Amino acid sequence: MYRRSPSEMRVLILAPIGRDAALLAQTVESLGVKSTIVPEANALIQELPQGVGVSLVTDEAISTRHIHELTSWLSKEPPWSDPPFIILTPSGQTMQYSQRRAQEFSTLGNFTLIERPVRPETIESVVRAGLRGRMKQYEIRSRQAALLQANADLEQFAYSASHDLKEPLRNIRVFSGLLQKEYGKVLDQRGAGFLEMVGTAALRMDTLLADLLAYTQASSIPDERPEAVPARHALDAALANLVAAIQETNAEISAADLPRVSMRESHLQQLFQNLVGNALKYRRECDPPRISVTSTRSGQYWLFCIEDNGIGIAAEFRETIFGLFQRLHTSGQYSGTGMGLAICKRIVERYRGRIWVESEPGQGSKFLFTIPA
Ligand code: ADP
Repeated sequence: MYRRSPSEMRVLILAPIGRDAALLAQTVESLGVKSTIVPEANALIQELPQGVGVSLVTDEAISTRHIHELTSWLSKEPPWSDPPFIILTPSGQTMQYSQRRAQEFSTLGNFTLIERPVRPETIESVVRAGLRGRMKQYEIRSRQAALLQANADLEQFAYSASHDLKEPLRNIRVFSGLLQKEYGKVLDQRGAGFLEMVGTAALRMDTLLADLLAYTQASSIPDERPEAVPARHALDAALANLVAAIQETNAEISAADLPRVSMRESHLQQLFQNLVGNALKYRRECDPPRISVTSTRSGQYWLFCIEDNGIGIAAEFRETIFGLFQRLHTSGQYSGTGMGLAICKRIVERYRGRIWVESEPGQGSKFLFTIPA
């Protein structure tokens, strides 16, 4: 949780001429709010990162260059932050001057222009309103931090649970295998059926746990860009793992020249494995699967496309299928955990790419994803 520092609610005052700054500070302090007077615009720009509730500045103290510097600082602020600026404009200016300055200040986003002379009550009300808005921003920051923490805890829990469950599950598989091997003869048909069900359930749980682990691990992809790897290697490794399904379905798989991409090979392999695996699984009964893997440059990205001639997907499911545990079929129709595409989405988004599908029922599907080049 975030604890607010006192400087985050202070009013920064920039009013270098005459007694303006002292009078403004007096008005602000009468609200029980701390104020800090800065002598010139550069000092304001240096003070802002230390925390600010509201900035109260006179128009003439801020040049166009200072506005650019402030805008550049604002652009690096986190999304929840939108600090208010109250600008006291000189009286009796031409319409042209006021319009030009209003246009310049607009890049600050959260700004209010007030023409002088200003009454203390007006200053009090705009400062109070500005601080109130700023408080709400801090509340959002605090909630966001709590949510991120809760999410990280859940991820850790899912990771530990799927990791720790693997060992007892392995024992169930080993001992049911031994039971079958050494005592299979003494079991009647009903007993043998039960034992087979134990084996099938253990195998399904093994797949579920492996997918859950892959899903949680995809969130720990580091931010820095890894060395580029040849996408062809990742595809070949994925196809090697799918060899049984490829042979069983008589699938034809083609891949055009694939580039080198800045990803961990294991992540790219996982993408190909899930997408080509689905293309094999969701095939039409009448035709053997025909699958192509291609890549083209699209601006700053590589665009990969895995196209199949399978059963296709209706428009209303084209987004939902990327959610966790979202399946359009029962396990009886097609085996699966409903996690494959969620894992793909997570990996692609961690690399700042996008994944989507273009498809029509009965007309095959194109799964497309981008990865920064
Ligand atoms: P799973 O295959 O384990 O069910 P996925 O997350 O990989 O889980 O896919 C979610 C759903 O999207 C699938 O249940 C299926 O209905 C649909 N789907 C995925 N890939 C294809 C495809 N290539 N063709 C048709 N439907 C697909």
